[in-house]
Amino acid sequence: MNAPVNPKKLIKGALGDWEVVIGMEIHAQVTSRSKLFSGAPTAFGAEPNDNVSLVDAAMPGMLPVINRECVAQAVRTGLGLKAQINHRSVFDRKNYFYPDLPQGYQISQYKSPIVGEGEVLVDLPEGESIRVGIERLHLEQDAGKSLHDQSPTMSFVDLNRSGVALMEIVSKPDLRSSEEAKAYVTKLRTILRYLGTCDGDMEKGNLRADVNVSVRKVGDPFGTRCEIKNVNSIRFIGQAIEVEARRQIAIIEDGGTIEQETRLFDPNKGETRSMRSKEEAHDYRYFPDPDLLPLEFDQAFVDRLAADLPELPDAKKARFIAEYGLSPYDATVLVAERASADYFEAVAKGRDGKIAANWVINELFGRLNKEGKGIEDSPVSAAQLGAVVDLIGDGTISGKIAKDVFEIVWSEGGDPRQIVESRGLRQVTDTGAIEAAIDQIIAANPDKVEQAKAKPTLLGWFVGQTMKATGGKANPAAVNALLKAKLGIE
Ligand code: ADP
Ligand code: MG
Repeated sequence: MNAPVNPKKLIKGALGDWEVVIGMEIHAQVTSRSKLFSGAPTAFGAEPNDNVSLVDAAMPGMLPVINRECVAQAVRTGLGLKAQINHRSVFDRKNYFYPDLPQGYQISQYKSPIVGEGEVLVDLPEGESIRVGIERLHLEQDAGKSLHDQSPTMSFVDLNRSGVALMEIVSKPDLRSSEEAKAYVTKLRTILRYLGTCDGDMEKGNLRADVNVSVRKVGDPFGTRCEIKNVNSIRFIGQAIEVEARRQIAIIEDGGTIEQETRLFDPNKGETRSMRSKEEAHDYRYFPDPDLLPLEFDQAFVDRLAADLPELPDAKKARFIAEYGLSPYDATVLVAERASADYFEAVAKGRDGKIAANWVINELFGRLNKEGKGIEDSPVSAAQLGAVVDLIGDGTISGKIAKDVFEIVWSEGGDPRQIVESRGLRQVTDTGAIEAAIDQIIAANPDKVEQAKAKPTLLGWFVGQTMKATGGKANPAAVNALLKAKLGIE
């Protein structure tokens, strides 16, 4: 079970503290070349209605045929969520009318989903972690899209998305703050990306969230929830929860009650608005789709998929901690993206893992963030960064010069060892040369020498001067030792 209520997560109302309760329904577009029940392509960016088969357009007499790869993707995802895989599931028709839904119903799964209960482990800032229960995952078709901005007098319909496979992943109401909700979606997206079952691209609408929010006094039963539909960025999820929770608290503290309803979040106004109330709620008249047999597969099918799963983020994190001696925090940062984790491992193999992590996280990620680049676009390869780490390790350059070398490799490319040689960046370990520089500094600053004898912290000033005189190339350990000896400091 999760830890007892953390007072920091409560929201202060006029009449005391409130706990927010959140459950999420995530729609994740399945990564597959063709649609759930037709052979039409799923490629993004096609001209409107280019990717539409007769099935997707719901021409009379057309029959759906289940796409085996979409089934495999749902099972892989279920395995990644440590969930119950149901060997038998049923497709139902969810009936409603909308211009972008030519069938007049969406094929979904209602009572018998392909995946049952599971869980996601979510790391929070400050080292806390929570388990979020998964209620179910089911497969369903996406709808098309109405275009209202193409003509002043008409609306158009684009069916490219019609029939594309979606996984709806429903969480239990286990989340207790906007921070937890954001961390949950982030983690779920990471798992989907590792699995290769959804690209998690929220800008393209390939991952979107319906956020259910209610509030209660600590210890009370759950309150009535409102559902905020189709929130399409992690930041907006956090904002929507904050404003919705405060709206509900204000109503209850004012003596009112919350009506269960569907709302929309308006990021520009920073408010949620009613879309439809429960009274108007659709009666979808679900019934098993007579065009489709129940979906059945055996354990061998599941076992084959399980055998091919990649190492997932939690396992990778544990291994990074054990194998490379990383802190849990550094390991969490590195496994957030599979590409980052792979990059780190290529640098760390056969080297000091902590130093490698430090360079990848602080120097490389820092630089990439500054330029808005992803790890795939890094101008510095893992082999090049590894060579920089080696040059520090074998004493060829200091950590400070290494940053300069990193900068040169970043902007000009090249082999770090050759750069060090050709530009004369090799660390000076020759004590004669360092001594000569120190002697000059001592001779030019007799007053500072006197002060340093009484106040040994002034050593730092001398170290700085010596580094300056040697162009930053003096070996810092040698500089310290020589200075102490010459100044008579312990
Ligand atoms: P429905 O079938 O009406 O959509 P579900 O039971 O499937 O209702 O719940 C939908 C989502 O709402 C789930 O993610 C669930 O965790 C969440 N949820 C249920 N009750 C509450 C509540 N009181 N407060 C917040 N979220 C809730
Ligand atoms: Mg539901």
